[in-house]
Amino acid sequence: MAILFRPFLPVDKTHWIPALRAGLGNMDFRIWPDCGDPAEIEYLICWGVKEEDKTGWPNLKAILSLRAGFDRWFVGNPYLPENVPLVRMIDPGLIASMTEYVCAYVLRFHRNLDDLENSRDDSLWSGIVVRLASERSIGIMGMGELGAACAKALVSLGFRVRGWSRHRKSLPNVESFAGQAELDKFLEKSEILVCLLPLTSETENILCAETFGKLPRGAYLINAARGAHVADQDLMDALDSGQLAGAALDVFRKEPLPQDHPFRAHPKITITPHISAITNPVTGTAVLRRTIEAIGAGKKPPGLYDPAREY
Ligand code: NAP
Repeated sequence: MAILFRPFLPVDKTHWIPALRAGLGNMDFRIWPDCGDPAEIEYLICWGVKEEDKTGWPNLKAILSLRAGFDRWFVGNPYLPENVPLVRMIDPGLIASMTEYVCAYVLRFHRNLDDLENSRDDSLWSGIVVRLASERSIGIMGMGELGAACAKALVSLGFRVRGWSRHRKSLPNVESFAGQAELDKFLEKSEILVCLLPLTSETENILCAETFGKLPRGAYLINAARGAHVADQDLMDALDSGQLAGAALDVFRKEPLPQDHPFRAHPKITITPHISAITNPVTGTAVLRRTIEAIGAGKKPPGLYDPAREY
């Protein structure tokens, strides 16, 4: 049994290879292009599949993605071999980073920091009434690994939290809404809407004029899921009309976001370069080890791709 890692990003050399060596060192761990006998490769760790993966590893037991979502690097990629399990990364380090990012922007919008930082209005020094977190409703779309962790953190900060998913959830102090039938009810009180959905044929363009129109007037949007969840022009129209008061976007249809994209110049849009959450090499390696051990023991690992639900 051999494990092959194919580097792709600059951080692979500086961070991933040392972490993988330390965490998988007592296994037969190889680094591309030093693959050895292709028939010995049972696990491929990578950021995306390539032409050689289609048939290059005849005894592959699983492809272990370092990414948290199943997207074009794997799903829909013509080089994804058929009948080889694909496992995504569910990394506690990444979940912690996403929780920080979402809390940071929720607090920024809740405390109106954008306006206050830019204001030259001296009358503000005589005091404003600050709304309590307990008076603010946050709506989270997608209550999986990331959504549930963010909900828990926001509850601990005192916010009213509501979550929307396909199936109803039972989380302390979180109001749960399930399926299309309860989407409107979920949206109508979500003053800050956080998207943490996977990108599927059902969720593409879900952040559109119809959705924005059902939020309370002056709501905020935080999208840290995928760019194609957002109908770009609808978002700008909702911001320009005042239906939305602001948006924090970490993901875009095209990345890096083109220099001439109108989001860059829009005064009510804050952009970050897809950094809300990145797989951590040390905690991620521990996850890879557990995944390899689970598959080796004939168990179903967490994060296995299900083509029927598309995530
Ligand atoms: P996950 O554990 O698979 O959770 C997905 C959640 O979305 C589940 O609660 C699921 O409902 C819900 N869902 C899926 N389709 C739905 C639909 N049609 N209607 C309503 N709810 C639906 O995924 P995760 O680990 O939380 O990650 C979510 C996404 O975040 C990833 O797919 C990825 O695209 C994105 N992400 C972005 C970054 C970044 O840096 N910006 C980093 C990591 C991940 P059920 O629970 O009922 O199945």
